[in-house]
Amino acid sequence: AKKNGKNTYQIYSATMDINSYKNFYLDRDLRKSIENNELVVYLQPRVDTFTGKLISAEALVRWEHPVWGLVSPSEFIPIAEDSGFINEIGDWVLEEVCHFIQSCEKKKITTIPISINISAQRFLRNDWKDKLIHILRKTNTDPNLLEFEITERTLIQYEQDVEAALKYIKGLGIKIALDDFGTGYSSLSYIKDFSIDTIKIDRSFISQIAKSCDVEVIIKTLLYMTKELKMNVVAEGVETEVQLDFLKQHGCKEIQGYIYSKPVTIEEFQALQSESILK
Ligand code: C2E
Ligand code: CA
Ligand code: CA
Ligand code: CA
Repeated sequence: AKKNGKNTYQIYSATMDINSYKNFYLDRDLRKSIENNELVVYLQPRVDTFTGKLISAEALVRWEHPVWGLVSPSEFIPIAEDSGFINEIGDWVLEEVCHFIQSCEKKKITTIPISINISAQRFLRNDWKDKLIHILRKTNTDPNLLEFEITERTLIQYEQDVEAALKYIKGLGIKIALDDFGTGYSSLSYIKDFSIDTIKIDRSFISQIAKSCDVEVIIKTLLYMTKELKMNVVAEGVETEVQLDFLKQHGCKEIQGYIYSKPVTIEEFQALQSESILK
């Protein structure tokens, strides 16, 4: 490290120490989180823009750490991506979601599709296919009720392996969503090459509605494009009526955001399901 004057260096290294100290323990403890039952799946509704009907949900993982308390996925997912433990987390979340779908069937609650965040690095380890098939069989899950969300960023990182993997997954009937759309090094050709079903417009765009004309043009263009290509489109992180009205006016089909619901526990979600129309 460079010393740009003594104080700067000291502050920098002190912050480094706290972060790397916490990250060291998070990394170590994460490896035990599954066997210690510390991970929990939350579900966030995806809602039909025009009817307010609950149509699907995204599974989002939570970690209840015995010492640090609730750790945000934005804190531990990058650590898991680095260590490779993200692969175990991904399989675990998938199995939990399949069990959830099964439990809906048992309780005679209408089953709805659930999306799961999958790190593209999952497809680099050659056990992924067997594991996926094993979980689907074991839980007797209809693959048509699943959607895998892949971020643009990881898609590009592992392009070669991902293309073949997504073809296989689509062949099973599982849908593919492109997550955080617009934040990566997006090339529109990905949409075609990877036969993406759904595009999720990132919250960083949605939050600029009524604030930036340029961003509004981008959103309108994306909505027009997805309509013409007959793709599904979801607006992420919708918080206000103003945002909702704009999206409605420009034909966005699906809404996900605090305006309807935060991510909730499975029990809370099943209560929402019986309401069927949110808000
Ligand atoms: P993401 O996939 O983009 O998920 C959406 C995030 O936006 C979630 O944060 C959700 O709680 C938050 N969100 C939804 N609506 C609103 C809103 O109206 N306002 C605001 N301010 N936020 C909203 P969360 O749950 O903290 O997850 C953060 C990220 O961690 C996710 O971003 C995803 O990239 C990653 N992640 C979460 N669970 C998993 C998982 O099981 N596997 C993998 N690989 N990544 C995961
Ligand atoms: Ca996602
Ligand atoms: Ca996203
Ligand atoms: Ca995001």
